[in-house]
Amino acid sequence: MTSAPMTSAPTSSAAHRLMLVHAHPDDETLITGGTIAAARDAGIEVLVVTCTLGEEGEIIGDEIAGLAAQHADQLGGYRYWELQRALSALEAPESRGRVRGVLLGGAGRWRDSGMAGTDGSRNPRAFINAPLVDTASELAALIQDFRPHVLTTYDPNGTYGHPDHIRVHEVTHRAVELAAGAPSGWNVPRLFWSVIGHGAFEEQAARLTGVPEGWLHDPASGLGLFPDEKITTRIDVRAQRDRKAAALRCHATQIMIDLPNRAFALSNRVAQPIMDEEHFVLARAAGHPVPDERVAHDLFAGLGTT
Ligand SMILES: [Zn+2]
Repeated sequence: MTSAPMTSAPTSSAAHRLMLVHAHPDDETLITGGTIAAARDAGIEVLVVTCTLGEEGEIIGDEIAGLAAQHADQLGGYRYWELQRALSALEAPESRGRVRGVLLGGAGRWRDSGMAGTDGSRNPRAFINAPLVDTASELAALIQDFRPHVLTTYDPNGTYGHPDHIRVHEVTHRAVELAAGAPSGWNVPRLFWSVIGHGAFEEQAARLTGVPEGWLHDPASGLGLFPDEKITTRIDVRAQRDRKAAALRCHATQIMIDLPNRAFALSNRVAQPIMDEEHFVLARAAGHPVPDERVAHDLFAGLGTT
């Protein structure tokens, strides 16, 4: 549980740009959906980079189970459609802009690696098997083109340990260096890790009531793994929760959602709360003084807009 006060959406100007790097379709919503929606509410340009199509994901429900990698192997294209719908759902209805989404290297360039030791991890196109210089160069090009003021990736453990998430961390850090060192490059002012605080997650999970039959209510399990004391920035996303819930619902192959109780579950059926806040760790601040305490609640506080 945080003792710090929570604020509303970031108060930044329209010229700020936010880039988020994610491994699979659904991670953008699960980990940062509220932050994306809050950024759009503040007029911030948002670009979501997704590194794979999530081809190795388990599929919830029987109707389209045959799309799975070991059967028709058509899940990736379907999840791309889910991703597009989710990004639209995060947008404010009255907004004239939109959350932009791109796939690293173009659709189908890199494949979901699955869990360690699986057939998917040995696929030559698996994201973890790609030369780091290739994927980092592709991301660096996107950074130089979009010129984000704030860039988010995962912590060294990949937020929740998936090999592709760990690789996203490595690729993003290398890409930031490449973009900064390139002629007419872009030195990203702030790089954050998107994380889920263990204590905050467990506390909110414990408050869940009315967990649907067949789901597990185990607050000690779930996506919240990061030590709370290392979190530098907490974004209040309560005002964006309905849109985050709508976006979670778009990822129906991966996520079950129980809207009256604002809970969701992945294929393991562990009930998880839609968090009141989303958590970040400031990993790198380039060319700017150490951010003041406002950064605790606003990824962009004190940043210029050039
Ligand atoms: Zn993922």
